[in-house]
Amino acid sequence: MVERIPHWVDGQRQIGTSGRSGQVFNPATGVVTGEVDFASVAEVDAAVASAVAAARTWRRSSLSQRAGILHAFRELLHARGDDLAAILTAEHGKVFSDAQGEIARGLENVEFATGVPSLLKGGYSEQVSTGVDVYSMRQPLGVVAGITPFNFPGMVPLWMCANAIACGNAFVLKPSEKDPSASLFLAQMWKDAGLPDGVFTVVQGDKIAVDALLDHPDIAAISFVGSTPIAKYIYERGTANGKRVQALGGAKNHAVILPDADIDMAADSLVGAAYGAAGERCMALSVAVAVGSIGDDLVEAIARRLPGLVVGDGAQPGTDMGPLITQAHRDKVKGYIDAGESEGARVVVDGRHHNAPEDGFFLGVTLLDQVTPQMTVYTDEIFGPVLSVVRVATYEEAVALINANPFANGVAIFTRDGGAAREFQFDIQVGMVGINVPIPVPVAYYSFGGWKASLFGDTHMYGPEGINFYTRGKVVTSRWPDPSTSAIDLGFPRTR
Ligand code: NAD
Repeated sequence: MVERIPHWVDGQRQIGTSGRSGQVFNPATGVVTGEVDFASVAEVDAAVASAVAAARTWRRSSLSQRAGILHAFRELLHARGDDLAAILTAEHGKVFSDAQGEIARGLENVEFATGVPSLLKGGYSEQVSTGVDVYSMRQPLGVVAGITPFNFPGMVPLWMCANAIACGNAFVLKPSEKDPSASLFLAQMWKDAGLPDGVFTVVQGDKIAVDALLDHPDIAAISFVGSTPIAKYIYERGTANGKRVQALGGAKNHAVILPDADIDMAADSLVGAAYGAAGERCMALSVAVAVGSIGDDLVEAIARRLPGLVVGDGAQPGTDMGPLITQAHRDKVKGYIDAGESEGARVVVDGRHHNAPEDGFFLGVTLLDQVTPQMTVYTDEIFGPVLSVVRVATYEEAVALINANPFANGVAIFTRDGGAAREFQFDIQVGMVGINVPIPVPVAYYSFGGWKASLFGDTHMYGPEGINFYTRGKVVTSRWPDPSTSAIDLGFPRTR
């Protein structure tokens, strides 16, 4: 059965009227399972109007009321997490345990946002001048929008909406059109948690909906996560329209393996971080930089682990890696392997030949050795299950290679040497660093973001920077007349 996937406006599902829609697949079977409505400009306008009205009331809600709703939402997400995970697996393809992990990371953001009464505390300076006090507060922006990628249809919206709503804003989500059902599941949970209608809105769609949000005068801020070219576009168009924009882009994450590294630990970490979610993670490790003598042993240790990985339908227990998101993307990734081979990389393990079902959008795992920085498998974000090994002679060469790369989302180093690790965290020009940790996604009370072409704007996502992004500071300077000069009898002694 092909399910119709509508918008969510004013606290309910709303069938689209634009006449435009897109197909949603189960990538493990290649079967069309849904038809998602694409919003027109008029539909976006109507959805934003509902959010504007809701935001007026919501910003007057007390902090304890907001915290209460966030606590209720947290409980529901916890209780219904497996149902949401099943939706993620069905439309994205990631294995069920990985989908549960995605929800667990999203849940952390909700838990952080339950602390909103403390997070929004201002400062107070008494008697800055005689009888004069100064204090600060943070107030919501109004209506803010989130535009999210296909690879984390549950977690990335939660990165944004939990803090945005806790801060007193109304939030409009434009999810990826490739796996849109999670957005409606979240919307229903917000409603069940007691959130007033209109505070959380979903407009489904493509570029037309995105552009309508970017140009809408009542949208105060845009949070974007996706590929670098679109992030740049969103940043430029959004800021040109006077909006606050945080736009997280693509990645090419390296892992440096020093000669003293625990090779089994490094190989296990690389296998999980390169091939988990079929490499469709912005924090996936896609380049292993083998320093000095460790190259041969490292390649052998990784290659030895790969035949054991089970590629198949992520809904089936025992599967390690699911399909890619679409057939077109699968073919694009395959094209990168072809190019790498013809440019001179050594194909150690070839994912083009695999045992996965024919009908789905599967590709096996690929390990390429002797990759050089000129090859397209190195220069481009592949976003698939392909790990490239680049060999360098020294630590300095490894750092120079990574610092020259335009992407700078995440990086990891494997070593037993604390001094070398500390030197690395100082030297490396990347936003998130793992020391013997392959995927250093910050916990929810720090903030997430890369540098350079992995981030447009100056604010990272969620955590303290998320709270700042979704609020504006106000500072009040106050002076009250000395009560002793009052003509009215206040009923207490006026002299000190
Ligand atoms: P994408 O850039 O194609 O799409 C992201 C969003 O932008 C979607 O909602 C999509 O509908 C919209 N969009 C696409 N093309 C558009 C256009 N021309 N005009 C306006 N809107 C448009 O990204 P994707 O393929 O969904 O996701 C994968 C990418 O996201 C990868 O590059 C990955 O590295 C990146 N990503 C980055 C992070 C991070 O934190 N830096 C996290 C997750 C994913």
